[in-house]
Amino acid sequence: MKPFLIIGNWKLNGSIIFVKDYINKIKKFLNKKKLDYCKISIAPAYPYLYLFNIYLNNIQMSLTAQNVDIHLSGSFTGEISINMLKDIGVKYVIVGHSERRMFHKETDKYISKKFYIIKSNGLIPILCLGETELQKNMNQTKDICVKQIDVILNDYGIEAFNNTIIAYEPIWAIGSGQLANPIEVQKIHKFIREYISQKDFKISKNIIIQYGGSINENNMDMFIKQKDINGFLIGKASLTAEDFISIVKKAEKILSSI
Ligand code: PEP
Repeated sequence: MKPFLIIGNWKLNGSIIFVKDYINKIKKFLNKKKLDYCKISIAPAYPYLYLFNIYLNNIQMSLTAQNVDIHLSGSFTGEISINMLKDIGVKYVIVGHSERRMFHKETDKYISKKFYIIKSNGLIPILCLGETELQKNMNQTKDICVKQIDVILNDYGIEAFNNTIIAYEPIWAIGSGQLANPIEVQKIHKFIREYISQKDFKISKNIIIQYGGSINENNMDMFIKQKDINGFLIGKASLTAEDFISIVKKAEKILSSI
């Protein structure tokens, strides 16, 4: 049975009322349904992480943070540390999302450092990587993936990837409704796993490789069936509890039959 992890990334959305309503709906669903085939998590904005933790009360759903600082404590006004995230029950942290690369000018080198600090301080980093439309058209997808992985490999070695997550997210497919071809995505995921495998077979077997980019209940089937796709990072379709629950229900059903 392949591991499968579905994470909803709420980005800059939400409110107290929204969080409470969402959690009530998720709780109602999870109280009746034991998840046998997939794990699920939500990445709300910082102010709602603690609320999520309290209201969720350890039911079958973990917490993801959308970002974290590279410093553990000190004079860094406006930042949030890994220890603070651990304190409020966070398990995963997204790093290298294309929106942070683009709008916050986060470089590969900085992302590498952040990835390593998250990992070495006891949380699980989710490394987002992927190509732009132009790079795709120039057949550079694999080169881009290698480049973004290599920075971490060169800085910290293959051990840094042990029990971590990579989210392949073609930038042109994020929030655009422009879906990638699941067969092509499988090829990229296989390539990434094989690339990691050249350094360490066991780490490559255990690494979770998620796909992200306009996934919803109606287009997920073919992705989930691909051997090297171990989950989804979902933006828009995670913003409605009903949609997220439908995706999870469907994932359970499909995964039970493969
Ligand atoms: C994302 O932002 O990581 C993402 C995959 O968003 P969407 O599902 O909306 O494309």
